[in-house]
Amino acid sequence: MRVPMIAGNWKMNTTVSEAKQLVNEMQPGLDGITDVDKVICPPFISLAAVKELIKGSSVRLGAQNLYFEEKGAYTGEISPLMLADLCEFVIIGHSERRQYFNEPDKIVNKKIQAALKVGLKPILCIGERLEENEAGRTAEVVSEQLRSSLAGIDYSGGLIIAYEPVWAIGTGKSATSKQANETVGFIRHNIAKLYDEEIAQEMRILYGGSVTADNITEFVQQSEIDGALVGGASLKADQFLSIVKQTSEIT
Ligand code: PEP
Repeated sequence: MRVPMIAGNWKMNTTVSEAKQLVNEMQPGLDGITDVDKVICPPFISLAAVKELIKGSSVRLGAQNLYFEEKGAYTGEISPLMLADLCEFVIIGHSERRQYFNEPDKIVNKKIQAALKVGLKPILCIGERLEENEAGRTAEVVSEQLRSSLAGIDYSGGLIIAYEPVWAIGTGKSATSKQANETVGFIRHNIAKLYDEEIAQEMRILYGGSVTADNITEFVQQSEIDGALVGGASLKADQFLSIVKQTSEIT
């Protein structure tokens, strides 16, 4: 049985005090739900403060990115070692990083290796762009992203995949639950080919792209989808809580 996961990607939102306020608003409700893994990913600068706030809570912490080197002259970057001290998860290969910061799969691969090396659990984001979707190339795109992002990586547990069609992120236009389930099933099939069937059955694969409290149920009802990576709706305590609650009700 895969434990469902709801992860909130706060993106470049919230000051440290706003982050603390948001955690204070959502934590009591989230703590009442125990059969879903609840992860919040605030900006780097809030990780330490949020870590303090959630001490003793079942809410878990993630970062939104990392650099693959452990330390050195890389001005402005944050290393895996620094994060390992603060949080448990790290989002890698988000489409906004691919689009605005030109991160190719080769870099994504190095980041995943670096995260796993220090015991961080990567949430690897993959997904096709609108034109690729319209050209019927979804399967080809996601299998290539998987192949190159995971090249040379011996699976040692901890990896989570988020299928996020790029055209559905922040657009209010989600994939249909049936489409998402089919692609997530295809991703699982690819994981079985890259590793083995047991690993594929254990690995959690989330859907992401305009998930809200109004549509979460249809996604988590699908057999292959193990939860969601939530952007915009994770910045509203009541929405995020409702998404986690509804996921728990399906479990
Ligand atoms: C995301 O940031 O990963 C995401 C899915 O965003 P949104 O839910 O806002 O579409």
